[in-house]
Amino acid sequence: MTEATLLEPCKDVKAFLNSDLKLLINGQRVSSASGETFEVLDPSNNSVLTRVPKGGSEDIDRAVRAARNAFETGPWRKLTVSERGKLLWKLADLIERDLEIFAQLESLDNGKPLAIARAADVPLTIDHFRYYAGLATKIHGETLDISVPYAPGAEFFDFTLREPIGVVGQIIPWNFPLLMATWKLGVALAAGNCVVLKPAEQTPLSALKLGDLFVEAGFPAGVVNIVTGFGDTGAALAEHNDVDKVAFTGSTEVGHKIVQASAGNLKRVSLELGGKSPSIVFADADLELAAQGVANAIFFNHGQCCCAGSRLMVHSKVYEELVERVADTAKKIKLGPGMASDTDMGPLVSREQQERVLKYINSGLSNGAEALAGGGIPKGLDAGCYISPTVFNRVTQGMQIVQEEIFGPVLAASPFEDLEEAIAKGNDTEFGLAASVWTRDINKAHKVAKGLKAGTVWVNCHNIFDANAPFGGYKKSGYGREMSLHALEMYTQVKNVIIQIH
Ligand code: NAP
Ligand code: MG
Repeated sequence: MTEATLLEPCKDVKAFLNSDLKLLINGQRVSSASGETFEVLDPSNNSVLTRVPKGGSEDIDRAVRAARNAFETGPWRKLTVSERGKLLWKLADLIERDLEIFAQLESLDNGKPLAIARAADVPLTIDHFRYYAGLATKIHGETLDISVPYAPGAEFFDFTLREPIGVVGQIIPWNFPLLMATWKLGVALAAGNCVVLKPAEQTPLSALKLGDLFVEAGFPAGVVNIVTGFGDTGAALAEHNDVDKVAFTGSTEVGHKIVQASAGNLKRVSLELGGKSPSIVFADADLELAAQGVANAIFFNHGQCCCAGSRLMVHSKVYEELVERVADTAKKIKLGPGMASDTDMGPLVSREQQERVLKYINSGLSNGAEALAGGGIPKGLDAGCYISPTVFNRVTQGMQIVQEEIFGPVLAASPFEDLEEAIAKGNDTEFGLAASVWTRDINKAHKVAKGLKAGTVWVNCHNIFDANAPFGGYKKSGYGREMSLHALEMYTQVKNVIIQIH
């Protein structure tokens, strides 16, 4: 890694990092009630990028009150749906104007390559807000014919209203900080809710920058509130009695706590949790395409994707050939800071995550799995949180690295003999988020897609996302669907109105 290839942050990013970053509550930039702040680190070298407020339960309470006022009495609910849509479109335009700033903040904060943030995270964000800007004017109820057998001769007119839920708490992880905020905010606002957002402690920057643009776009005060902080800040939001719904993306472990915390006022809950997604390759697949595709399925975003293809299953006839190709790809991946132009894969998000992934790698090695590539920390990059892309060969179902979500660039490969075994193995974890199938045989593709218990099945591709495509989990990967028209179910409630015509 030569210094010459490392991009300096642009002047707007430097100015943002040097500014006094604050919470967004009721349209105002405010310090945390305690006055405390915490460090935000660059995972490529663990230097301090900046500090942000350490929001606590008092700040959550202030933010929830602001959201409640905005929802009950502010101008927000009086806006026409067209005006609501226009605000979201304006926000998308502002993000597009600041695309480079967002991409650099995301790369510095999370560690992902700048080129990826520029090409994927930020454009997907812009597209997503535009999708929901359009949807704001298309949310509607229905008219219903009813019979009412115990009221013969009576005439009724029955219609439904699809109404917002109210104050929504949203808690997001660090792997796609901007995009995870966007998946939650776009639909919630299109449907007319007010929001308190809690970003992950490791990656609060793009959410705070987004807060500036909500203000600039002209969203009324209190409609979007952003409180940075730690896990207990999220917990305060999840258990708050004046929050009507909590939407959570993160680990299955914290997902359990969210459900428990929601019990106090029986708030609605939606959960996007972990995964252990299989990539299943049949002998008839285009092996070059499949090898590239399954490598990308696990190594994209350094394996820190909830839907990472972390289990590779290959038909025994082509197993050796395919796994070797994937291991070769892994060995060629260039590690380095996200802000370096020649980086293929950046550091993991934090030391803690690096240590966690390393523990899994060591568990694989001590359980007898052979590492065909990687298998630890790369040499010469000690200052950052790097892990070498790792491919484990011929793993067995009982191994921890096969059953548990690692959330790092670690692939566990094993052979299968027939379609039934592929489906059974594919389903043999507690998760059910996603899967990919690689075959030229349309019949196999359909059978496997139907047989897998997963919220998304990709055929001859992996990690394909679109605002119009629903995403969410089966089993312990969560409930509710994000994106698409389906997400409206999580952010609206149905009111039935029955009128008797006399
Ligand atoms: P995490 O530890 O569960 O944290 C997620 C968020 O919850 C963070 O904002 C965290 O705050 C907050 N939090 C922690 N403890 C809490 C509590 N007791 N009550 C309320 N909030 C709490 O997950 P992560 O390590 O950041 O992210 C990785 C996980 O997210 C993986 O399991 C991954 O599969 C999952 N994920 C799922 C999807 C999906 O769509 N299914 C998408 C992306 C990621 P702090 O950061 O301050 O601790
Ligand atoms: Mg960071």
